[in-house]
Amino acid sequence: MKKAKGIVEIVVLAAIVLLVVVYLRSFYRYADGELVPRRGVTSVEACVANLKQLAAAAEVWSSAHPGEDPTLDGLVGPGYFRILPKCQAGGVYSLSKEGDGFVPHCSIPEHDKRGLAALKRLH
Ligand SMILES: [Zn+2]
Repeated sequence: MKKAKGIVEIVVLAAIVLLVVVYLRSFYRYADGELVPRRGVTSVEACVANLKQLAAAAEVWSSAHPGEDPTLDGLVGPGYFRILPKCQAGGVYSLSKEGDGFVPHCSIPEHDKRGLAALKRLH
């Protein structure tokens, strides 16, 4: 009987540990292989949001300056960015001309890929 009691205690303990883990996990989620707070964003998500903003600003700038090419520095100023958004992961932004639009890029390939996919969805 003593051995059976020991097993019951182990099972109860394991159940408690499992409940605690499930409870703590409920505050976090997996995104891009990172464990982030439920309300937080990963650096990729933040970067994609920046790229969308840069694309929108470049579009506005282009229609205000026909025949000219926007530069990232040109997107800073009244009506545009107060300060240029930065990639949290240290990626460097650039603008490229594609068709008759301008597409922002991040030097981190994964960010760039996700950003381009997000921008395609907008059009
Ligand atoms: Zn980035």
